[in-house]
Amino acid sequence: LCALSKTFKLGGGMLHKSQTLTAVNNVSLRVPRGQVMGLVGESGCGKSTLAKILLGLTPPSEGDVLINGKAIVNANQKALARHIQPIFQDPYSSLNPRQRIAQIVGLPLRIHGIGTQKEQAAKVDEMLELVGLPKRAAQQYPGQMSGGQRQRVAIARALIMRPDLVICDEPTSALDVSVQAQILNLLLDLKDEFGLTYLFISHDLAVVEHLADRLAVMYLGKIVEEGTREQIFTAPRHPYTQALLASALTPEPGLGVPDIGLGAGQPDPTRPPSGCAFHPRCPIAQPQCSEQSPKLTDLIQSAAQGTTQPNHPRVACHFA
Ligand code: SF4
Ligand code: MG
Repeated sequence: LCALSKTFKLGGGMLHKSQTLTAVNNVSLRVPRGQVMGLVGESGCGKSTLAKILLGLTPPSEGDVLINGKAIVNANQKALARHIQPIFQDPYSSLNPRQRIAQIVGLPLRIHGIGTQKEQAAKVDEMLELVGLPKRAAQQYPGQMSGGQRQRVAIARALIMRPDLVICDEPTSALDVSVQAQILNLLLDLKDEFGLTYLFISHDLAVVEHLADRLAVMYLGKIVEEGTREQIFTAPRHPYTQALLASALTPEPGLGVPDIGLGAGQPDPTRPPSGCAFHPRCPIAQPQCSEQSPKLTDLIQSAAQGTTQPNHPRVACHFA
């Protein structure tokens, strides 16, 4: 993703001036092939808007999406769907209740005219088996299935095109706790088997801890920290990442990060705070923080005057 931004105009009436909401603010992010990039942040931080841009469901206001170095953002939704497929949070509302599972899973093949009817049917059977559903599931309707089974259907549909990137937007948060681990393990197994690449969106750091190779943390439309799972979980540098870890996980003994009580006090995104947007909640804010917006910086690079390295952590904080 190259310098992606998305600004919405919110309806103004006679009495109110129209406002703008910058849901995604100059986001650049590289998702390496064959890896899982976790994208975390509180609800409303822009993660789902980012997903919609990648799926061609909403155009960006600025910036590009590149796959293998080629910009595809101006391609239509159908062209994007060849490369990028989604698995959404609610497997019920994302599956057509009036279609049989075979039709649902085979839809991408029909849209793109891939294979004969017989080949498409064989592919559907193969996918259902891969996601652990019995053959008879093909003739069922979504309403006859459990939430976990429906999410397996959604996974089969997403993977039938062997997409370059799979966007998993909170794929387990609507499921029973007992089923969540099964679905996460299935996603990991399929990733290993087919060398898939995931952008895994979650508000819950504990979920991504087990599957992400890299993590990007978003706050009010911006990436504030990005690094490997190890860098983020053992040495978080941004105060917001530290706060997320403190509130989401049993803190590592000795990590000593303050719990700043996230959940309350998220600012109105139509009027983001000046400078560093995190400053009203930041336990180490200084006067400079409300004036200057920190850039997402490769800390090692600025110390060593070298070039940006893909494995270096990037942080947007004046005092990280
Ligand atoms: Fe806190 Fe300042 Fe860093 Fe923002 S720039 S996270 S307010 S210390
Ligand atoms: Mg969301």
